[in-house]
Amino acid sequence: MSDNLTTQGSASPAPRRGGLQNGPMPAAPPAPPTGSLAGSGAGSKARFASLSVEHASTVSRVAAELRRAVFEGELESGTPLRELALAESLGVSRPTVREALTVLVAEGLATREPNRGVSVATPRAESVRDVCRARWVLEGAGVQAWTAADDTRRGRVRTTLEAYTDAVRSGQASYEELNERHLSFHVSLVELTGSPRLVHMAEALMDELKLALAQVDRLQRNAHDEAESHEGLVALLEAGDIDGRRGAYAFLRKHIDDAEVEIIEALGLE
Ligand SMILES: [Zn+2]
Repeated sequence: MSDNLTTQGSASPAPRRGGLQNGPMPAAPPAPPTGSLAGSGAGSKARFASLSVEHASTVSRVAAELRRAVFEGELESGTPLRELALAESLGVSRPTVREALTVLVAEGLATREPNRGVSVATPRAESVRDVCRARWVLEGAGVQAWTAADDTRRGRVRTTLEAYTDAVRSGQASYEELNERHLSFHVSLVELTGSPRLVHMAEALMDELKLALAQVDRLQRNAHDEAESHEGLVALLEAGDIDGRRGAYAFLRKHIDDAEVEIIEALGLE
């Protein structure tokens, strides 16, 4: 498998978020009382005896914290993620850490190697290209769906754009926040398709990109131009210029191609 940003061996990232929500992972809600999810029959209780809501939510909180540290660049590519040390510093059990690491490996944010354990994944040029190729298919479909999309979805494109450009212009936003808002805008394009499955795919791709972007801070300098470029894209959509030679579809193509070249250069991958 080589369909993610990792050096080798890990599975494809799995969709993990519910609904159409974007932006930072919200903190997990307080866990409901642990107990059977089954009906009242004794047989169904036994069937689900191993399920534990409390445990599952601890695993997802640990995974969220690790994800945050990777995206913020606190944990760099190649950093070993040692179970014991993580369990001690997070105050959770080793099996909980182990499960959280399995989640990160499935998302392509970490790799597991025989005899070496789990470490933060290292982006590769071919994988960055492939992520951009897949983004183009999904976001291009979104742009094509603009005219048919309902007002709510179009409104979301406008509000995510505004959140992003406001953050750029305030000059106060962290690099991670800018990346988050930027990529949320791109996911909002995919939401125009009205397909939750395509949106899940786009979110998984964005997580892989965030891994790459976390290793780069030189891109930050381009943030201002980037804001204008995105406003240009939405202006074309609003004008209904989708398929023209300089329409939104062609504009998006160039935008993603430029991003691909920029990320690969900034990472010094070629
Ligand atoms: Zn962009």
